[in-house]
Amino acid sequence: MLTLNEQIRNDRKLAILTGAGISVPSGIPPFRGTNGLYQNADVERCLSMHFFRTHPAEFWTFYWSLFDANLLLEALPNRVHYWLKDLERAHQVTVITQNIDGLHVKAGSSQVIEVHGAFNRCICPKCASVYETRTLINEKIPHCTALSKEGKPCGTVLKPDIVLFGEAVRGLRGVEQAVSQADRLLILGTSLGVAPINFLPEYAEEFGVPTLLINDHPALQMDAIDHFVKTNFFDFDANTIRF
Ligand SMILES: [Zn+2]
Repeated sequence: MLTLNEQIRNDRKLAILTGAGISVPSGIPPFRGTNGLYQNADVERCLSMHFFRTHPAEFWTFYWSLFDANLLLEALPNRVHYWLKDLERAHQVTVITQNIDGLHVKAGSSQVIEVHGAFNRCICPKCASVYETRTLINEKIPHCTALSKEGKPCGTVLKPDIVLFGEAVRGLRGVEQAVSQADRLLILGTSLGVAPINFLPEYAEEFGVPTLLINDHPALQMDAIDHFVKTNFFDFDANTIRF
């Protein structure tokens, strides 16, 4: 049995998949699962691209009431995020995250694919202007204030830069490239319940990339996982985790 740090010492390229579990020590409760925000019966309908297009005002009312914007915007990275950032000193690291909290970027990781987008940004569907969500939290229905060539405000209702139900996940090509070329796929804090990211262990297996799951409970599908280490992210320490 070697420690996690010893196990990965000779890996040149690491693909890291992260989920809600690693943000719990940062004070962000998981959206999915028992008592999660996404248990709200209206989530799939109201947090959808269709609802945004057809009922933008109601969409924003729902959005602001569903998420605790201050919590998400002010949360700080924890030891897991910083460990992943520090791995860049010795490895080529691509972080693939299902989290919308932006904490990998805040921690300083340089290669981050936010497959479900990020809460801290909003985007204009018409002119693609990008806004920081923290500048919009007092606006019931945020509109684009960018000026057109003629000097008129764009005025389009902004869209949160998170992946809504009915939208495709982001960066899938980069994800596949990172995983297929990796020496190892580390999966942290996700039970792999959300498609298409839940197929990554099988995808890694196809390319002979070993997979390690570190989580407080097993994934829903363990067939393609080579190693599972049960751990609590509050006291995550890659020098004491052994497998
Ligand atoms: Zn615009």
